[in-house]
Amino acid sequence: MSAWFKMDLWKRVMIGLVLGLAVGLGIRQGLDPEAARQAAGYFKPFGDAFMNLIRMLVVPLIFTTLVAGVLAMGDPKKLGSLGGRTIGIYMVTTLFAVTIGLIVGTIIQPGASYDLSNVSAEDVARTMERLEAGGGMEQRTVFEQITNTLLAIIPPNPVAAMVQGDVLAIIFFAILFGVGVMMAGEKGRPVAEFFESASEAVLKLTLLVMETAPFGVFALMAWVMADQGLQVVFAMGWMTLALYVACLIHIAITHGGLLKFIGNLPLLPFFRGATDAQAVAFSTSSSNATLPMTISVAETNLGIKKTVAGSVLPLGATINMDGTALYQGLIALFAAQALGIEISIGMYVTVALMATLVSIGTAGIPSVSLFLATTTLGVVGATPDQMALILTPLFAFDRLLDMMRTVTNITGDLAVASVVAKAEGEIDEEVFRARDNLSAHIDDREPAV
Ligand code: ASP
Repeated sequence: MSAWFKMDLWKRVMIGLVLGLAVGLGIRQGLDPEAARQAAGYFKPFGDAFMNLIRMLVVPLIFTTLVAGVLAMGDPKKLGSLGGRTIGIYMVTTLFAVTIGLIVGTIIQPGASYDLSNVSAEDVARTMERLEAGGGMEQRTVFEQITNTLLAIIPPNPVAAMVQGDVLAIIFFAILFGVGVMMAGEKGRPVAEFFESASEAVLKLTLLVMETAPFGVFALMAWVMADQGLQVVFAMGWMTLALYVACLIHIAITHGGLLKFIGNLPLLPFFRGATDAQAVAFSTSSSNATLPMTISVAETNLGIKKTVAGSVLPLGATINMDGTALYQGLIALFAAQALGIEISIGMYVTVALMATLVSIGTAGIPSVSLFLATTTLGVVGATPDQMALILTPLFAFDRLLDMMRTVTNITGDLAVASVVAKAEGEIDEEVFRARDNLSAHIDDREPAV
């Protein structure tokens, strides 16, 4: 028993995954279709319990993390020059990430090989109805779609927004609430402390829920394999390919472009310097856990001064998640492709906005994307049953995807920190360029100014 708990969580999840896969396939091969379907049904409630546990945490996780995140900025002045510039660049790079995710997802079509058309006809009809009720996407002009999406972010009633799990509205209210607490100064102290400890508690609860993941993944996998067969595994292969390709393109183009053209900094030493932190991110799948390494890499390898490294990077670990946002875009496409739903321009915009904001609203811990995915699928209009079929393989294979997302997340933090440090005059370029000597003769870059 204790040997089980001593094992890394991801290894336990893998065991759940493989066993679930084997059991599900066994049922599918060994029984006639009707009996297989029935047998699969026995596993579903356990999987559903796990999904409910995850969904239970979405609202508290986002609300407390965001309020505490705003408060962590300390004093309103930090929201000034450094904060404003940092948050601005963080938002722009994240939007680029989602866009790249959406483009790559449209080309690779990861969901095309996951045919969910055998989900009942009523289910699909219900999805279409929900989509129409959610704004009649198709009949409205692009202007109306966009303004509707933006207006829906301001909750006329924040409590109702929480009851309905309206994530964008919750994010909006949480940020303003955090600013209010900050502005209240001394008088706001008790509320600030409450939220700091509440966010700690919710993070612990999240880790506790993740302890049930091996069992949840086993049950979900057994159910989905018995129900859908091997196409699930192929679809996840495509999804993995799409995510890795999109993340690499994003790192090369967005982060590279930011450093080169905005920061006027050479790329090679940056990527050489960042490798240590990337390796830790790849193996821990957590931006938070990687943070000490990210800060040390920034100071030691990239010559970023403490004032910037110490503020920009912790903020980035919480709010800047390029890989996570990119993945949310891919999930929306995956779902739409699997369900055969056509995506309108309005929906693309909603997904991009949603993915950006939602990625801001959560902490950098393993598999946070799964908590966000339930929200993203809401935008696509998936019914609970469809959601279960789509989320199951994503849950099961998440570790592989999470490693790349986290690498992308922290690379973005480091790229932005370098550029902000450069703009604030807080970087020692000699240290930054020290790792460039190997390439000196092939690179005709101008010397540092
Ligand atoms: N694991 C990621 C991180 O810590 C978040 C995610 O699940 O996408 O940055």
